[in-house]
Amino acid sequence: MKALIIEKPASITTAPLKMIEREIPKPSANQVLLKISKCGICHTDLHVVEGDLPPVKYPVIPGHQIVGQVLEIGDAVHNLKKSDRAGVAWLHRSCGTCRYCLKNMENLCDAPLFTGYSVDGGFAEYAIADADFTYKLPDGFSDLAAAPLLCAGIIGYRSFKLCRIKEGETLGLYGFGASAHIVLQIANYYNCKVFVFTRSEKHRTLAIELGAAWAGSSEEKPPVELASAIIFAPVGALYINALKALRKGGTVASAGIHMSPVPQFPYELLYHERIMLSVANSTREDARELLHHAVLIPIKTTVEVFPLSEANNALQLLKQGKINGAAVLEIE
Ligand SMILES: [Zn+2]
Ligand SMILES: [Zn+2]
Repeated sequence: MKALIIEKPASITTAPLKMIEREIPKPSANQVLLKISKCGICHTDLHVVEGDLPPVKYPVIPGHQIVGQVLEIGDAVHNLKKSDRAGVAWLHRSCGTCRYCLKNMENLCDAPLFTGYSVDGGFAEYAIADADFTYKLPDGFSDLAAAPLLCAGIIGYRSFKLCRIKEGETLGLYGFGASAHIVLQIANYYNCKVFVFTRSEKHRTLAIELGAAWAGSSEEKPPVELASAIIFAPVGALYINALKALRKGGTVASAGIHMSPVPQFPYELLYHERIMLSVANSTREDARELLHHAVLIPIKTTVEVFPLSEANNALQLLKQGKINGAAVLEIE
């Protein structure tokens, strides 16, 4: 099969993803083999490629928003059958026995595996996945439209839950990429007023088209105080911008796995019971709830499509903030 691997992390400007030929992997008893149709591109893929995360496995095939067809199933698999359409997300498997797994916090598992980071992912023609962490995808979404739901959607949904927003309140989104364009639709569904902060004129236009109440730069003060905010761009200083815009008792959550250092700031910005938190990974329950919302709302994903061979270029455009909505690799 064709696959893109990253042997040693390097700047995306050096086109470090290399195309290789490799044998199609075999599923074990609890796994399925997927023939991949599409794979979404996420900021985390960029962090894996550029080495912003602690090294776990190199070489590795990145990609954790896999949409494909079940081609083979292991002997112990009962939840999926051959030819099912299925999706694979970032959480490849949790241990099931640590204190977090036992308390419905598998996103914080002490011994997790992550797709496209600690195990090979979806920038390839085939991938294996744990059946218990593979999701049947709802009808009504093309493979292309479904791919960004699998991380951008799921992590965005978890961030929306954790930022303690209530129905009808004001929500700030800092950065407007794949995840934010989905969260905006969820927030609108719950009658929240959404304020979008981004440098990109193109992203502001998309935000307004999708129903944002206001769009401006991250330096600007929104016209009203925010009850909650979510930071999507990997820039620590945005915590401070968000704290300045938050009302008393408000919460700011960061959805990213990696962020530049948060600069010092005066305690008064945090005082009055404002909360800063991070969102780490997601649970299978988050995935199921997001897919449920995708049908209910229904969520419309805006995608830019690239062939597998163009992944380096797509990641570079993502880094430059030039992708409108989500980037997706078309593999078949
Ligand atoms: Zn665990
Ligand atoms: Zn992701």
